Amino acid sequence: QPVVAKWKRAVLKISGEALASSSSDEIIDALVLNQIAAEVVEAARDFQVELAIIVGGGNIWRGAVGPGAMLERATSDHMGMLATTINALALQNAIEKLGQATRVQSAIQMAELAEPYIRRKAIRHLEKGRIVIFAAGTGNPYFTTDTAAALRAAEIDAQVVLKGTHSGIDGIYSADPKLDPSATKFDYIPFMEVVARDLKVMDLTAITFCKDNNIPVHVFDLMTPGNILRALRGEFLGTLVS
Ligand code: UDP
Repeated sequence: QPVVAKWKRAVLKISGEALASSSSDEIIDALVLNQIAAEVVEAARDFQVELAIIVGGGNIWRGAVGPGAMLERATSDHMGMLATTINALALQNAIEKLGQATRVQSAIQMAELAEPYIRRKAIRHLEKGRIVIFAAGTGNPYFTTDTAAALRAAEIDAQVVLKGTHSGIDGIYSADPKLDPSATKFDYIPFMEVVARDLKVMDLTAITFCKDNNIPVHVFDLMTPGNILRALRGEFLGTLVS
C-alpha cells in the first residue's frame, strides 16, 4: 500500500535563523542545511508532494531590527531580500547534491542566478516534480517571508503553509513557554484567535492573508529530525491554524 500524502501541493516556510549554526557564528550550518535538504528530498520523492519552499533571511539581515534599523527601511528590506536569496541558493545546492531537481525563482530579478518569479512557470516546475524555491520574499519592502509564503501558496494553489519554527517551541502556545511555565499548547486554533490573542507565530499580514484565502497553516518544530518529512506527509505535529 503506497503512502499517500495528505497534501498534494505544499509551501514550506523555513526561517533564515533555522539555517544558522547554534554553536558558532556561521550564518549557514552545513549540517542543518543538509538535514533539511535530505528531508525535503525524501518527502518529495516518497510522498509525491509538490513542494515549494520559501526561505527567510533573518540569519543574515533583517530590515527593521538590529543594524538594519539605522538604515532607510526600504533599503534595509532590499538587503533582507538579498539575504533570503543567499539562503535560497544554498538550499538549492544542498538539495541538488541529492539528485533532486530544483528551480530558484526570485521576486527581484537576478537573471544570472535565478529565474524570475513567473507563476505559471512555477506551477509547471511543480507538476514536473521539481522543488521550487522562492527567493526575495514578495519582492516588496515592508513585508516578510511569512507573508511571501502565504501569497505564493495562494498563487500556486497550495493546500497548506507549513511553517517550521526553529526556536525549539513545537507549536503555538497561550504564552511564551520559555517565559511562562503555565503556557499551554494549542493543537488547533482559529485564525481570529491568533489575531485576538496577538500570538506571535506569523506576522498579522500573513495570518489574515491565509484566513482570507482559506489556507491552513501548520506550525511545527522544524529542528527535530524527521519532522519536515512528517509535516510534508500530512501528519499534525504542532498546531493547526485554520
Ligand atoms: N523582506 C522584505 N520583503 C519580503 C520578504 C522579506 O522586505 O517580502 C526583508 C525584510 O527586511 C526581512 C528580511 O527580508 O526582515 C528577511 O526576511 P524575514 O525576516 O521574513 O526572514 P526570517 O525571519 O524568516 O528569517
